[in-house]
Amino acid sequence: MIMSIRPSQRGAQDAYIWLPSKSGEYTAKTGYHISRALKDPPAETQQTSINWNADIWLGHFSLKIKLFLWKILQKALPTCENLLNRGHFDNTCCIHCGELETTEHLFFRCKFAQKVWSLAPFGKNLDLSSISFEASINVLKRLVCLPPIRISSGPLFPWICWTIWTARNYRIF
Ligand SMILES: [Zn+2]
Repeated sequence: MIMSIRPSQRGAQDAYIWLPSKSGEYTAKTGYHISRALKDPPAETQQTSINWNADIWLGHFSLKIKLFLWKILQKALPTCENLLNRGHFDNTCCIHCGELETTEHLFFRCKFAQKVWSLAPFGKNLDLSSISFEASINVLKRLVCLPPIRISSGPLFPWICWTIWTARNYRIF
């Protein structure tokens, strides 16, 4: 656990911060919820059903991002795989590495995406290499985002996906 701690890249002073609360101060309420979660952890990678209201439509991110996630989950994002399934055979290769560009490849399995995720300020290291995008929502929404971006568990993952997508489009066009 100590080895997984990621020190500040800007040389900030160490401080005690309770990540589950927005203020960074410990509260009995958040402590209770954490102890319950540790006692009975959810099967993160097994759960694949999306709670559309809680996970997408009521999420604390912009409408643009909500529609973006909806498109990904409905296989409506024009990735090469989705275009291939609709009869467009022009190009099926990932712009970064040349492999077949599936949704999971683009956002998680491509070396480019893995580098982006490894640099994100999350409280633990991620391994998204073997799960579907739908299943990843249940993992990503629980990630604690470390300072200086935010103290509490913020929805950083949709923005990372958005950035991976726009970087891909900039490179293509
Ligand atoms: Zn790739």
